[in-house]
Amino acid sequence: MIVVLFMMPITLPKIRRKESVRELYDVVIVGAGAAGVSAAIYSSRRNLRTLVIDKFGVGGKLLEAGLIENYPGFTGILGPELAQLFEKHMTKFGAEFLVDEVVNINKFNGMFIVDLASGNSVKSRVVIYCGGAEHRKLNVPGEDKFLGRGVSYCATCDGFFFKDKIVGVVGGGDTAVSYALYLSDICKLVYLIHRRRAFRAEDILVEKLKEKDNVEFIIPYIVTEIRGEGKVESILVKNRENDAVMELKLDGLFIAIGYKPNINALLSLKPETFGAGYLKVDERMRTSVEGLYAAGDITGFEKQLVVAAAQGAIAALSAAEYVRHGKWK
Ligand code: NAP
Repeated sequence: MIVVLFMMPITLPKIRRKESVRELYDVVIVGAGAAGVSAAIYSSRRNLRTLVIDKFGVGGKLLEAGLIENYPGFTGILGPELAQLFEKHMTKFGAEFLVDEVVNINKFNGMFIVDLASGNSVKSRVVIYCGGAEHRKLNVPGEDKFLGRGVSYCATCDGFFFKDKIVGVVGGGDTAVSYALYLSDICKLVYLIHRRRAFRAEDILVEKLKEKDNVEFIIPYIVTEIRGEGKVESILVKNRENDAVMELKLDGLFIAIGYKPNINALLSLKPETFGAGYLKVDERMRTSVEGLYAAGDITGFEKQLVVAAAQGAIAALSAAEYVRHGKWK
């Protein structure tokens, strides 16, 4: 996953950085979100030599998540706090962690070669790919121009900068609605702009949002332009039923319209994909490439923390079997 960070750095967990990487591993795990962390725990507890690589840090989307209320054992915990617990847990049983970007993965003589942006490469018998998905863009005028100057994809990273100001949130899924809830506690006014009257988000979240006095639902509208002089000052929105256009004055716009799978590093391996480029996996998290497993958002299943963690565990247990017995199917 590529995390777009700007304005305010998040406090990251302390990372145990690995310096020498020209080594052979049983398992290399790409991505340290819930899927990767869970895979690392299961893999290292099976005594497999395990390396986790993430370009950013431990936690994946947790680092930009608000309050998590649906992960068993936690009735309410902030994403970055849970990420810190994940980091401690991930390395507890011997998994190593490297902060670097995986740029390409190839396979020679039954061994994966994982090339890193630093110029190093790592060899591994198995790869568990938990590369996640990145933010989708609206692709409207002003979106790129005002990135970091009012446009953001992460309310929990940047919401603080809009204290007592007016903001918009675009989208109708869990991310958009939970962003709007979070921002309603910080900002003077929050517009939730969604292209349909029905919401994809959990009903409980939408109901909570409707109770907020400082949230205005702008539906069914799409954003057609982001305007300003040096920073965001307003947006143009168009009604999808009658084409009426209006201008909303605001200081910030949070775009939460979903994600697209992050599979560039796998293109040389040509794994089978579906939909927008999600990796096809079977019930043991095996992809179409022998030795390559996948878990988490990249598999196109429900994008839930608990699902990613479960998939990571299955992938690691399957990988342990494969490393020990060499039998793929
Ligand atoms: P999502 O569920 O895919 O929702 C994306 C939303 O953006 C949809 O409402 C969609 O509208 C809208 N959208 C897409 N393209 C658009 C465009 N070009 N212009 C305007 N609107 C557009 O994405 P998400 O909310 O990021 O959630 C992703 C996954 O993470 C989901 O499975 C979600 O349940 C999960 N998640 C879970 C939690 C949690 O457990 N607490 C929190 C956040 C996310 P339509 O509805 O019309 O398609």
